[in-house]
Amino acid sequence: MDYTDTLREIASHVQPYIGSGEVASYIPPLAKIDPRQFGMALYTLDEGLFVIGDAYKRFSIQSISKVFAFAMAFNLLGDDIWSRLDREPSGTPFNSLVQLEVEYGKPRNPFINAGALVVADILVSHFAQPSLAVLQYLRRLVADDSVDIDLELAKAEQHLAHRNIAMAHFMKSFGNLQNGVDEVVDAYCNQCAIALSCAEVVMAGAFLANSGTCPIRSTVVTSRRQTRRINALMATCGTYDAAGDVAYRVGLPAKSGVGGGILAVVPGKATACVWAPGLDESGNSLVGTMALERLTEITGWSIF
Ligand code: GLN
Repeated sequence: MDYTDTLREIASHVQPYIGSGEVASYIPPLAKIDPRQFGMALYTLDEGLFVIGDAYKRFSIQSISKVFAFAMAFNLLGDDIWSRLDREPSGTPFNSLVQLEVEYGKPRNPFINAGALVVADILVSHFAQPSLAVLQYLRRLVADDSVDIDLELAKAEQHLAHRNIAMAHFMKSFGNLQNGVDEVVDAYCNQCAIALSCAEVVMAGAFLANSGTCPIRSTVVTSRRQTRRINALMATCGTYDAAGDVAYRVGLPAKSGVGGGILAVVPGKATACVWAPGLDESGNSLVGTMALERLTEITGWSIF
């Protein structure tokens, strides 16, 4: 099967909408990105890589990094991780603080900012250089040492990370942060500022489609059991308060980032990544979600 035509059809379907949505203006370097860009990559376990548009252009993966950081922390702590995090959809924006007070500083899930900060804290406790650990993890998965952190972007975010800092302090007051707030927020901003292309994201996430084994290097990244659970979390929590709508329209485990990228997993079959910087009101790529919706319409790959 050759998916070149599938990608072409998706690209022509979304063409009239390219440039729609708002770029993430609260992180200054992201505010400058031209929204009229679109790239998509598909990696199937049987047929390999297919690409279209700006699929080789690196972008800021932002919250897509939450999947990889969580996989690392889940490997380290196993099910003990659930003493510090919940696994329910939040139904609130990714950077919301409202649930934290009534839920005693325990974030709803690892894929909203509060949860990702707890994950970053776990990594800070385990690694001397936590940002480097996430970077190396991704470099191994992508098999490319040129993958890097956009340090300028990370710094710009850190300077304006008032909400993330507030959340971290708040969780610390409940005893759910073991390290210093600055150190944790710093690690978190660095992991968000890793730049990858769509073609690299589908490679990095391929283990999620392959029961935890990286199909390129044949190494076990997460156990079969953990992989199923990461996919379940992506399906229920990966696109924040739009997770229900994304399940309805796309029907795949997915993780978005405010850089405009979305990673989607077709368990047992493939990974897809779309990048289009304009976001909808939930902070998910507007055109990216449309493209994924078209993908599952054409292929019938929805898990539902
Ligand atoms: N670094 C961003 C933040 O903390 C990530 C948010 C996102 O991609 N949804 O706000």
